[in-house]
Amino acid sequence: MSDLFADAVRRLELIAGRLDIHEEVVERLRRPMSVLEVSVPLRRDDGSLIVLEGFRVRHNDLRGPTKGGIRFHPSVTASEVKALALWMTLKCATVGVPFGGAKGGVAVDPRGLSNLELERLSRSYLAQIADHIGPEIDIPAPDMYTNARIMGWMADEYRKITRRHEPGVVTGKPIQLGGSLGRDDATGRGAYQCIRVLAEREGWRPDEVRVAVQGFGNGGQHVAALLAADGYRVVAVSDSRGGIHREEGFDVPSLIRTKNETSELQAVYCEGSVCDLVDADRISNEDLLQLDVELLIPAALESQIHGGNAASIRASTIVEVANGPVTSLADPILEASGIRVVPDILANAGGVTVSYFEWAQNRSGQSWTLDEVHRRLDETMRTAATAVFDRAEESGMTFRDAAYARAIESLAEAIAASGTSDYFRG
Ligand code: NAD
Repeated sequence: MSDLFADAVRRLELIAGRLDIHEEVVERLRRPMSVLEVSVPLRRDDGSLIVLEGFRVRHNDLRGPTKGGIRFHPSVTASEVKALALWMTLKCATVGVPFGGAKGGVAVDPRGLSNLELERLSRSYLAQIADHIGPEIDIPAPDMYTNARIMGWMADEYRKITRRHEPGVVTGKPIQLGGSLGRDDATGRGAYQCIRVLAEREGWRPDEVRVAVQGFGNGGQHVAALLAADGYRVVAVSDSRGGIHREEGFDVPSLIRTKNETSELQAVYCEGSVCDLVDADRISNEDLLQLDVELLIPAALESQIHGGNAASIRASTIVEVANGPVTSLADPILEASGIRVVPDILANAGGVTVSYFEWAQNRSGQSWTLDEVHRRLDETMRTAATAVFDRAEESGMTFRDAAYARAIESLAEAIAASGTSDYFRG
């Protein structure tokens, strides 16, 4: 993979260059505030020891404590984590959540680990970064191949190390350990709200909208389920092993149930406990990206749509549930083809928004109802989406440029409030 952080900075510079902002802003955002590289020892079940490479990057804390997920994936590198941390800074500013950006990761394939090994890994990584996190410093959350149980182990390890009960140090925890209702589907729900705002503005009819979802995990499953419940036709889904395609559309709850019970993506229709196979084509992840659909939702890894395949994309709208699924080189190619992209820093911000709600509940000793969480999440997402789409419409910018403009200007105001060279020169 190319240098993801260099690509993220390139895009930031390009878009900021078109805005009327102080030159110090990009200077402040071009580099992360700190990059921690750790070795993560893991005792395997057979008694052997492996030492894994891990990272925690804090990008910028001007707008609040830094916040960002932890990823367990074999392709984790310092460059990837730095890019993801930069996008977190921009994302929090886009939706007005009072956090800065951070991200963490361990280069490991967790699918090859037993549950006990996974617990030891989670606790070992947390122990390596414990001195650098805290509810008012830096707050981890789940990301690819990490989940609520892993966040619970990490919060528990932090409690053991500090001998203090501070649930606000990690979000995305199980409800019983201080998690928030509505965190599990928050990322998918946030993306769904962005799509709804767009659909309302443009008068879409759900049954005429074919949807393809790349990556059928937390983000992908929830957005697919919400869209299907509204009558959208989910015609293709995929996971790391490939995808399935059916022009008539899938019964999404059946797909989710079998995927979660068997780990296999199967074209099925379930009634009660009986699931029957339905006709569908097996397709590759690359094929899925190039399907003739109205809505393409990349919800897996970054850099899936790049300079090499952007010209083959046929969807009319892309909604980035994954972080960075489209490279900066693909941006102008998609724009020239008239393909709109609802960018990651808006589309997948529902996760960090409910993480913020969880943190706020932990610190105030409250627990909000699911209705309360949904009401606040929907309002946050719809407000940000409307502002981005309005700005794009008024200025002729792409959705990505409009979202970046909103984020960069909010950060510029924070930077100006702490004093730029204009102020110090008198
Ligand atoms: P997850 O681990 O729950 O699911 C990931 C899914 O992607 C799995 O189904 C996996 O099989 C699939 N996958 C992996 N490699 C693939 C490939 N090469 N092609 C197609 N599918 C592949 O992860 P998640 O939490 O849903 O995260 C997915 C993306 O969404 C990531 O980019 C993540 O950063 C982003 N995201 C997640 C959250 C969150 O709250 N979980 C928030 C914001 C953004």
